Amino acid sequence: MTDQRPFYRLTPEKRRERLAQQANLSKEQLDCLQKQSSRFGNELVENYVTDYRLPMGVVTGLMVNNKTYTVPMVTEEPSVIAAANNGAKRVRLSGGFHAEKQEHQVIGQVIISPVKDSAKCIRWLAQHTAEMIKVANAVRPSLVKRGGGAWKIEVRPLPDYLSVDIYIDVQEAMGANSVNTMAEAVGQYLINEGFPVLTAILSNLYLGSLQKVSCLVQTDYLKTAAMSGLQVAKRIASLSKLAQVDVLRAATHNKGIMNGIDAAVIASGNDWRSVEASAHAYAAYGHPYHGLATWQLTKQGLRGELTLPVSLGVVGGSIKLSQQSKINYQISGIRTSAELAAVVLSIGLAQNLAALRALATTGIQAGHMQLQYRSLAVSVGANADEVDKVVDALKPMDQVDQAAAKKVLQKIRRE
Ligand code: NDP
Repeated sequence: MTDQRPFYRLTPEKRRERLAQQANLSKEQLDCLQKQSSRFGNELVENYVTDYRLPMGVVTGLMVNNKTYTVPMVTEEPSVIAAANNGAKRVRLSGGFHAEKQEHQVIGQVIISPVKDSAKCIRWLAQHTAEMIKVANAVRPSLVKRGGGAWKIEVRPLPDYLSVDIYIDVQEAMGANSVNTMAEAVGQYLINEGFPVLTAILSNLYLGSLQKVSCLVQTDYLKTAAMSGLQVAKRIASLSKLAQVDVLRAATHNKGIMNGIDAAVIASGNDWRSVEASAHAYAAYGHPYHGLATWQLTKQGLRGELTLPVSLGVVGGSIKLSQQSKINYQISGIRTSAELAAVVLSIGLAQNLAALRALATTGIQAGHMQLQYRSLAVSVGANADEVDKVVDALKPMDQVDQAAAKKVLQKIRRE
């Protein structure tokens, strides 16, 4: 008799079996799902079936504040880790990245629905900030014991609504759960005081956690066979200006930065959607959406800068729950959330440098395609021994697509 229980009530093993039946998976495919499953997955997500694996590599020799890091990066995009290493090396040779010390605060919002006398409401709220801070801290005493907790409240009038912004020092955690708990406590306190509270939740725009990194690249380290370092630097500075004035270009400029940032954030076990949300909101904060990293040619060299609001944890959430996550922290040697933010942003700026240098010189495809050819070879069924041969055969071809890769593979096999 078939198991009639709803999917979520099944064990992971039974869920895999049911899916295998429904989707007509082979025994080999079912074994693959089983082999990739982990002990923790079922504790972390609903309807857990297996782990979805992504490739992990490292950026080596990333120099930040005179310390050299090896940083795990997780991504499925072939060129990302190569580009991060390329950018990191040019900056290291020029003296490395400089990262300012980050303040780490997350804002919790309690939103009050439209009221008749909003001026009176604002006055009352301003007179009761100390009470609200007390209420917030009372539900997370452990955070206060560690030296963190709510410390400031600002009331921000919005069209129709009022936002009570609670600034919370979240210490070494990313803070979303803690901040939500604290914001909800303040929300309940305001409901008890008669306020029409609409909702209470953290903001993913981490204006209280701005991280700034910069570097000064010696132009000599930018030269190519066809262009001087100064020429390349000038073109990179122009590309940077373009990303400030054209939203179409800015989106791609920022995507390139996030290629590196996301890969490092995923490997650190942090919530990368939160980092993405914050980055893009910040790119449109106070002015039209624009490029997040900037490059300026100075007398001393090409100066790069990246400022982003990020809240990253080295504890909490699912960080260090898995063996892999623990290993990654051991590889990077990163111990604090401030150090993690500095390193992650440095990778973002290194990534941007490599992308802009490619755009300013040979174009992005020259480097990309070499790596994309490898994916293409795998996608048409090349095994580990055949991939290099397929890539070598594709390189001189004018038109490379799946059909061409298939033909090349067939030819290699025939020979
Ligand atoms: P947790 O709820 O896990 O809270 C942090 C934990 O870290 C606490 O258990 C705390 O212990 C412990 N801790 C140990 N040492 C420290 C230290 N030095 N400083 C701070 N905390 C310490 O995680 P977060 O509150 O960080 O929330 C992150 C999670 O929230 C992520 O999984 C994220 O995906 C998720 N999330 C994200 C949302 C968003 O971005 N919009 C919304 C909702 C959830 P103790 O209990 O003793 O204080």
